[in-house]
Amino acid sequence: MKRYSAFSIAREALRNHAGWTRAWAAPEPRRRYDVVIVGAGGHGLATAYYLGKNFGITNVAILEKGWLGGGNTGRNTTIIRSNYLQDASAAIYEKARSLYETLSQELNYNVMFSPRGVIMLAQTESEVRGYKRTAHANALQGVETEFISPEQVKELVPIINISGPRYPVLGGLWQARAGTARHDAVAWGYARACSAMGMEIIQQCEVTGIRQKDGKVAGVDTTKGPIDCDKLGLVVAGHSGVLAEMAGFRLPLESVALQALVSEPIKPCMDVVVMANTVHGYMSQSDKGEMVIGGGADGFNNYTQRGSFHHIEETVRALVETFPIISRLKMLRQWGGIVDMTGDRSAILSKTPLEGCFINCGWGTGGFKAIPGSGWGMAELMAKGHSPLTESFSLDRFREGRFVDESVAAGVAH
Ligand SMILES: Cc1cc2nc3c(=O)[nH]c(=O)nc-3n(C[C@H](O)[C@H](O)[C@H](O)COP(=O)(O)OP(=O)(O)OC[C@H]3O[C@@H](n4cnc5c(N)ncnc54)[C@H](O)[C@@H]3O)c2cc1C
Repeated sequence: MKRYSAFSIAREALRNHAGWTRAWAAPEPRRRYDVVIVGAGGHGLATAYYLGKNFGITNVAILEKGWLGGGNTGRNTTIIRSNYLQDASAAIYEKARSLYETLSQELNYNVMFSPRGVIMLAQTESEVRGYKRTAHANALQGVETEFISPEQVKELVPIINISGPRYPVLGGLWQARAGTARHDAVAWGYARACSAMGMEIIQQCEVTGIRQKDGKVAGVDTTKGPIDCDKLGLVVAGHSGVLAEMAGFRLPLESVALQALVSEPIKPCMDVVVMANTVHGYMSQSDKGEMVIGGGADGFNNYTQRGSFHHIEETVRALVETFPIISRLKMLRQWGGIVDMTGDRSAILSKTPLEGCFINCGWGTGGFKAIPGSGWGMAELMAKGHSPLTESFSLDRFREGRFVDESVAAGVAH
């Protein structure tokens, strides 16, 4: 696979760009692999990548029913942060954030990581107390965050209205090394690196059944025929319940639509990410100048990649209150993704009742930021049977009552 560099760009510019090769191969599936990963979203691809890179396991197929990155990975608002409350969460999200810092170099693919900083606004006294507590917890966990004053918020975000009529800004939880990355590029970068290691990414290949023998996984049935494997990783976000049913177990999660929208592009006006949890809206500005806006999750289970219309109005109302400057902006696009939510709002990275079958799901509204850390931990779990990063996120926690409660940290999602 051709290495991307300033030199290769210059050379191709001189020969009409005729020498570029495909970023990843598009093979037909073989009959057998050591490992099959279902779902070519960020988490599935990162799992495959670290299986190859950290454990030398490269006889791997990644099966995707649509196109790679076409699920939630290509639909999110790209916020990356690690200011979670519980130690287990801070560990996996901070591992991910730190891997993001060098991911472009590691994958030889520009994922456009932009550590521009994220502020979570405190707009009630209980939020002030909650975020101060999180800042103290983060200090103990080695995650750099600080609680800042309303004046410091205004300095970082000149377009914000800190004395809003309903909920004035009372401060904020600031993580300076948090930020955003280009979501498609994260999937594309991992895909290219997996393909370069000899792994096979098979798109338009839906898994329709999971075959087992003597209580162990034997393979999968797909729309491109049966495929055998020794180990199977289910990494399908909103469709996790469907795949778990095929494997014969149930998951404690619900699938709902979560939506986002972008405005027409405007001149640069905000160079940090702002999350306003009380009024429920968050916003950042993309490199193209569009304001990227996160909406709410539907209050009922569904599999539509659209979301309910009333959320658009509620989200825009919340943001106009926080940023009056955007009141006359036109919205360009709106879309939804199907997110998989657990009761404690934490992920599941776990063995399953079916031997040889592992699951990575439950990232809900906030898993983009976790992709490198989740892939790292999931690969270790699949290769060695255990991983310090994933230990607290096993399915057993629901039976044993060891919840990793992040419902406040993930309150507004992301
Ligand atoms: C609107 C929105 C905004 C968000 N904003 C943020 C944010 O700002 N920050 C953040 O950290 N997170 C955010 N998230 C959450 C984040 O996008 C997800 O947690 C993350 O992308 C999940 O990645 P994944 O790889 O697990 O799933 P996906 O990217 O959804 O990949 C799963 C793949 O599995 C495939 N699949 C399903 N069933 C089958 C089958 N039977 N056979 C084969 N393939 C199958 C799907 O087609 C899909 O491509 C947001 C989500 C949404 C919807």
